[in-house]
Amino acid sequence: MKRAHNFNAGPAALPLPVLERAQRELVEFEGTGMSLLEHSHRGKAYEAVHFQAESLLRELVGIGDDYSVLFLQGGASLQFAMLAMNLLLPGKSADYVLTGTWSQKALAEAKLIGTARVAADTSVDGKFARVPSESELSLDPEAAYVHYTTNNTIFGTQWHYVPNVGKTPLIADMSSDFLWKPFDMNAYAMVYAGAQKNIGPSGLAVVVVKKELVLAARKDIPVILRYATHADNQSLYNTPNTFAIYMVRNVLDHVKGLGGLAAMEKHNVDKAALLYSALDADPDFFRCPVERASRSTMNVVWRLPTEELEERFVKEATKSGLIGLKGHRSAGGLRASIYNAVPRESVQALVDFMATFRATA
Ligand SMILES: *Cc1c(COP(=O)(O)O)cnc(C)c1O
Repeated sequence: MKRAHNFNAGPAALPLPVLERAQRELVEFEGTGMSLLEHSHRGKAYEAVHFQAESLLRELVGIGDDYSVLFLQGGASLQFAMLAMNLLLPGKSADYVLTGTWSQKALAEAKLIGTARVAADTSVDGKFARVPSESELSLDPEAAYVHYTTNNTIFGTQWHYVPNVGKTPLIADMSSDFLWKPFDMNAYAMVYAGAQKNIGPSGLAVVVVKKELVLAARKDIPVILRYATHADNQSLYNTPNTFAIYMVRNVLDHVKGLGGLAAMEKHNVDKAALLYSALDADPDFFRCPVERASRSTMNVVWRLPTEELEERFVKEATKSGLIGLKGHRSAGGLRASIYNAVPRESVQALVDFMATFRATA
């Protein structure tokens, strides 16, 4: 089999050794006479996987006992609603920083539940080319929380600082850059991520939330939507997505074997530098619409002089085994998602292809 160079935005590339392990273990799991897919979520075999996924995440990030780690279904999008239902307490307002489509969606859900205000908005004509500077944030000191999106998957921007929000709980949607490098969990009251970009299959969200926030959350919401329900039952209140959690466990185990998040950072910074320097070497042809200080290390976006050339680029790249380079329909242009699991060789293959394309365009 020849592996494609996979630049999909999500679901996205997974490490080959992780896929191979799943293949080896699929039909019979650890000598139990059945697949993990067939095991009870209350049984010993699955429970070991479940709790190892949690402990690996705690170890890799450095998550203290004052936080709950939850594995929830419904992806990151359910969290847009769930976090507001739990944490936007009556009589309070929440602050949202708008830096792209996903933060707009998070705000829209919060507005259906309570009062939410915009603390900053960097859009110009519906597009986002940067994240705000700290001085641009207009924060309500009484806010229930501040919500922002650390990496904007569609527009290719990323925060390279953690905003100082004083005593207000800070909540981050880290879906597309979770575990790309080490981060200080203590700066956040809650972080969450859909698994399908950096850590596993789609449909699963990882939520890390401060226990005191869970305790103070609203109780007048459906049981299944309360963080407390899942925290009290260690994400085993109802049947979890056992296979997705197994895959996340394997990805985390793999990342640990590579040297943890510091190794991820080195790998990702190197890949991003390789691709951005190819763009910067020929800025009239490969135009990056993102302000330099806001460039994403995970989703690299660029334009070509015409849409016709962009179409041809995607077509010819696909023929060469480079998959998923079309930009999101709302942003246009081209995008390479170069998450943790994308090997350097794939980025090198893309850079080589760009040079060939440029020579014949
Ligand atoms: C992909 C993505 C989402 C949505 O994830 P789903 O799992 O499809 O709900 C939310 N936020 C960000 C930043 C994303 O990249």
